[in-house]
Amino acid sequence: MRFDTRLIHAKQPPDPLTGAVNPPIYLSSTFRQEAPNRNRGYVYSRTANPTRSVLEATLADLESGAVGLAFSSGLGALATVLEAFPSGSRIVAVDDLYGGTWRLLDHHRQQFGIRVDLVDLTDPSAARRALLEKADLVWIETPTNPLLKIVDLVRVAGAAHAAGATVAVDNTFATPALQRPIELGADLVLHSTTKYLGGHSDLIGGALVLRDPKVGARYAWLQNAVGAVPSPFDAYLVLRGIHTLGVRMRAHEAGARAVAEVLEPHRAVRAVHYPGLASHPQHALARRQMSGFGGMVSVDLRGGATAARRFLRRLRVFTLAESLGGVESLVEHPASMTHASVPRDQREAHGITDGLVRLSCGIEDPSDLADDVRSALRGL
Ligand SMILES: *Cc1c(COP(=O)(O)O)cnc(C)c1O
Repeated sequence: MRFDTRLIHAKQPPDPLTGAVNPPIYLSSTFRQEAPNRNRGYVYSRTANPTRSVLEATLADLESGAVGLAFSSGLGALATVLEAFPSGSRIVAVDDLYGGTWRLLDHHRQQFGIRVDLVDLTDPSAARRALLEKADLVWIETPTNPLLKIVDLVRVAGAAHAAGATVAVDNTFATPALQRPIELGADLVLHSTTKYLGGHSDLIGGALVLRDPKVGARYAWLQNAVGAVPSPFDAYLVLRGIHTLGVRMRAHEAGARAVAEVLEPHRAVRAVHYPGLASHPQHALARRQMSGFGGMVSVDLRGGATAARRFLRRLRVFTLAESLGGVESLVEHPASMTHASVPRDQREAHGITDGLVRLSCGIEDPSDLADDVRSALRGL
């Protein structure tokens, strides 16, 4: 089956008991046992829940992995991954990261003696140099947040494996509709299902997909031991969102392209970051590695913080709010919002200026999004 069909049918057969085409939401915390330790595969809902099982099997299928695991948030999934890396481990992470990922990695560095090296993995020679030394985990986002840089997954996964590392990719921005990291060499994929997979800004959730079944069993053990699992209702909402992921990603991209084309030539704009623009430094790589460019755009305004504030105030269709990936367009100011936990000097060294604004283009009419941005830019 092709991808858009798998979104709806992969590992989601009608309920065997009733024929319901959607999985029932099993709200039970516990399950009757026929005798001690004799059961039908379900004992306690932290360990496994039938609604969550449908979601987990679907996630594994869509990401071309062996095991899918659902979590109560993207950071709950990350915290569970970090349980697998004892003190003394070395983590190499891309230098443009979701702010909460940066914060938790930095916490593990300070509290638990983990070495964390932030590297511009979009630069092949910097990546090669960082991976000459042994590493335990290589943490990649591509496209990165908020600068939309593209990391060459085949190349970096090869170097990371040679350094002895597990290769993890946060695939939240691209989603499996546009990019499947396990097919390109990754061992582990993370999602904040809060974003595009849920797709409607009405839940908080996370997921991991593991390439190898044995490694998957180890992470399933950690999922149960740590306990950061989603409610059955949230598991259902993520599944419901997944059904429309294909059509939504095409609509998000149409909006993002319209917005990027308004921004690029404008004199108030220093730079637009969108992998779909021919001017993007890794446009050719994005074309090879992804089957679309997604719905996220960021823009660096020449007028700095003042211009950013005026631009945000004038937008009418875009709502000022953290998060992304919902049907409604959202806009935010990374330096003071999502990336405020990154110290200013590090932020600025990596290009997160006070004039940077990040737009999550929703599925409204692309012309309305373009008009909104055009009128907010007027007079800047
Ligand atoms: C939001 C986000 C996370 C964290 O997910 P939560 O569900 O908010 O815990 C991780 N990575 C990326 C790229 C994100 O956008």
